[in-house]
Amino acid sequence: MKVNVPVHKNEEYQAAVMDLTYEGNGVVKIDDFPVFVPNALPGEEVTVKITKVTRNFAWGRVMEWQTKSPDRVDVKDKAYIQTGIAPLGHLKYEAQLKFKQHQIKELLEKAHLDDIEVLPTMGMQKPYHYRNKAQVPVKMVRGKVETGFYKRGSHNLVPIEDFYIQDPKIDEAILVVRDLLRKYLVTPYDEQTGKGVIRTVMVRRGYYSHEIMVVLVTNTKRLPNADEIVKGIVAGVPEVKSIVQNINDKKTNVLLGMTNKTLWGANEIHDTLLGIDFAISPLSFYQVNPQQTERLYQAAIDNAELDGSQTVIDAYCGIGTISLAVAKHAKEVYGVEIVDAAIQDAKHNAKRNSITNAKFVTNKAEDQFAQWQAQGLKPDVVIVDPPRKGVAESLIEATEKMAPQKVIYVSCNPATLVRDIQRFADHGYQVSKPIQPVDQFPQTTHIESVTLLERDN
Ligand code: SAH
Repeated sequence: MKVNVPVHKNEEYQAAVMDLTYEGNGVVKIDDFPVFVPNALPGEEVTVKITKVTRNFAWGRVMEWQTKSPDRVDVKDKAYIQTGIAPLGHLKYEAQLKFKQHQIKELLEKAHLDDIEVLPTMGMQKPYHYRNKAQVPVKMVRGKVETGFYKRGSHNLVPIEDFYIQDPKIDEAILVVRDLLRKYLVTPYDEQTGKGVIRTVMVRRGYYSHEIMVVLVTNTKRLPNADEIVKGIVAGVPEVKSIVQNINDKKTNVLLGMTNKTLWGANEIHDTLLGIDFAISPLSFYQVNPQQTERLYQAAIDNAELDGSQTVIDAYCGIGTISLAVAKHAKEVYGVEIVDAAIQDAKHNAKRNSITNAKFVTNKAEDQFAQWQAQGLKPDVVIVDPPRKGVAESLIEATEKMAPQKVIYVSCNPATLVRDIQRFADHGYQVSKPIQPVDQFPQTTHIESVTLLERDN
């Protein structure tokens, strides 16, 4: 079939921006042909230069604005948009929250689920400086050791000092480390040659505890001048509790290797989430926006209406954040997660918090559900917090057979949420309350939400 592509590379058009995609790109249409345009907002009139053409759509760049959206924020530092640190940073925060609510609403409408309501997105008072963790590549840029972030879709480092969405104490610690790397001439790893020493600097800071961990990811076993560098970090980062060297000698985009060597202080730091104390080691998964994670999970837990008598399943439980918070208010909790290291963390954290009614198992959630069902487990509440691809059909089938009164769906992807709402409906579960979006990642396009489903009786 011959497809008529009306646009060609390097042509310029003047057009109105119609829409904003879930990735945060503006959409203009030329003879009905969609052109995606970064940094363009609905309602704006722009001159677009076509940069790339495919069969079904094209990419373009704004050359000039004829009119600007009242929702536009002038981003001072271009690096935020270039790097994808803040792909929605050019949109006012109230408009970001509406955008996220509407994304879910639109997907529901497309699925003919118009009667399901979506509440306004729960946002942050201060929608920046929220990340408790940074993983920053180190590269040689024009003869100088630099820390920053990669330009979108590339490995070209844009040097950045103020990362905008990270805890400012983390930004400060990164600069201390960068200056020490410069002072002691530690060479950055070069992806082309596989040579060089330092690859990545990771810094974590407990939101409540204020404990800082610095991880230096090296390509080599040896870190030259390690003693001096450690002394410099201790002197320059007063809150530091742990300095770790992580060795990653693989040619890979995976940031951390498997070997950790504590250079100074503790092997782990601590922080609390929903009143539970968590130990965080270099490889541990830990939610990056603790303030909003608490609100998201609290919204999920509130839906369960626990009085101490219920049996709860927490599927995709990670390090057991939800399970351990729920355990205080439930008879027993069963957590399942595919990554064994996370389950070990969950068990460790249960013990440290003297929680004895939470059991954790490493398995695929869908397989474990089938087992629990076969064993006759009768949960009152099932909580699921799946990755972007949503839950497996077989998990829904096993849930129907175990027949909990409530299913609470924590979602990080509205598209699979809507698909799964339809599948749950086919298995006897209906959405019984408006969906609550919670903004876990301000300035980015990520959309998290909580949905309560209840069994038809
Ligand atoms: N509730 C968790 C985070 C959930 S993120 C917390 O608070 O920490 C989604 C989790 O699902 C990840 O930890 C991922 O490892 C896990 N996962 C992915 N696929 C899975 C599967 N098929 N079965 C069980 N867990 C899975």
